[in-house]
Amino acid sequence: MSLKVLLLEDIHTSATPILQSIRDVEIVRLKHAPDAQELQTLLADVNVLGLRSRTRLTSQVLEHAPRLQAVGSYCTGTNNLDLKAATERGIGVFNGPFSNTRSVAELVIGHAIHLLRRIPERHAAAMRGAWLKDAKGSNELRGKTLGIVGYGKIGTQTGLLAEAIGMRVMYYDIEACLPLGNAVPAASLEVLLREADVVTLHVPETERTRQLIDAGRLAQMKDDAALINLARGQAVDIDALYATLRSGRLRGAAIDVFPLEPASKADTFESPLRTLDNVILTPHVGGSTFEAQRNLGVEVSEKLRDYLLSGAVRGSVNLPELSVGVLRAPCRLVHIHHDRPGVMSRLNGLLSAAGLNVSQLHLETQGGIGVAAIDLSAPLDAHTLQAIAGAEGTVRAFTVL
Ligand code: NAD
Repeated sequence: MSLKVLLLEDIHTSATPILQSIRDVEIVRLKHAPDAQELQTLLADVNVLGLRSRTRLTSQVLEHAPRLQAVGSYCTGTNNLDLKAATERGIGVFNGPFSNTRSVAELVIGHAIHLLRRIPERHAAAMRGAWLKDAKGSNELRGKTLGIVGYGKIGTQTGLLAEAIGMRVMYYDIEACLPLGNAVPAASLEVLLREADVVTLHVPETERTRQLIDAGRLAQMKDDAALINLARGQAVDIDALYATLRSGRLRGAAIDVFPLEPASKADTFESPLRTLDNVILTPHVGGSTFEAQRNLGVEVSEKLRDYLLSGAVRGSVNLPELSVGVLRAPCRLVHIHHDRPGVMSRLNGLLSAAGLNVSQLHLETQGGIGVAAIDLSAPLDAHTLQAIAGAEGTVRAFTVL
């Protein structure tokens, strides 16, 4: 039986040759993000689904996807997917956390230059026919301090770019991080906010980052500092930022992510910041470049291919990491199971009853879920595979292609 892959939302064509390297694969491409009802119908016979951030994969939709083995999220976030429901069905979910790192970092530097030169106000004035030609409040980035909040993939890349153009880099993170280049850790978020000329946020969406930058934090920033948020919309109290900018404090802000973002192009973007000249507002495009889309097509497809062809789990958001050796037997079974006593012994019992010997076993567990790639001395017949799939503790079982 061929493997059906459904790619939604016009995923970059760089995905195609990699997915085609999976044997007997049928790839169906759609440009749009289907709604729940259409998606349910589409998924009836699909084994692998590729989507981006506009398609919502809910528990209810997954109930109509009996053959779905793996999902490729061709973006960095997975907020649009019900990961718990996917895990309960043994569906491996893979994303591309590195593909747009550079795109975001470059845009931060661009915004920092524009904000320190007061370009947003000059641009807005020019659009109205005014000519704000002066050097007032215009500064170079060289020698200024960039304060990076969240020193992960994007934060570190941004720091390196900033340093290359002469900025001093300071960062704050809740985890111990290796400083790259000459970056220095700030003793606290408050120290960073008091010292930075440009504060840029690169934190994930968590309870701790909700309204991380609120009125009190904004008050700790230098009067002529700039704020950049290309991370998550909930990290900044937008009303407090608006009030701060209205009061004449802060040089300006560049905001790409909002607590409430329009669901589609047809919806209007609402924000109090729209009334201000000293802001750059963008529609969540921090990571949206041709290069990032191309990189995502490759990064996510390679993970899907390796999972389906060898059982290797690399960078999944819901399955434990599993390195596997070269297949040295006629058959490899991938067994996703609940990590509890008795599950593996039941599996061994079924294999031994079918006269199958295990010649190689890779096993990893995490968060209550286990993944095993088991090489068997002979091909697995449909009856035994069905018995394994139905055994207590098994979440999903399939043989690699
Ligand atoms: P990452 O996981 O590599 O780094 C996040 C860092 O933030 C980690 O080092 C973590 O320890 C730190 N952190 C967590 N909570 C913190 C807190 N309360 N205070 C300080 N540090 C904290 O993530 P990344 O790939 O660098 O992405 C960063 C953010 O950018 C994410 O929220 C991601 O969704 C967002 N993003 C946005 C776009 C866009 O289009 N605007 C594109 C890509 C990523």
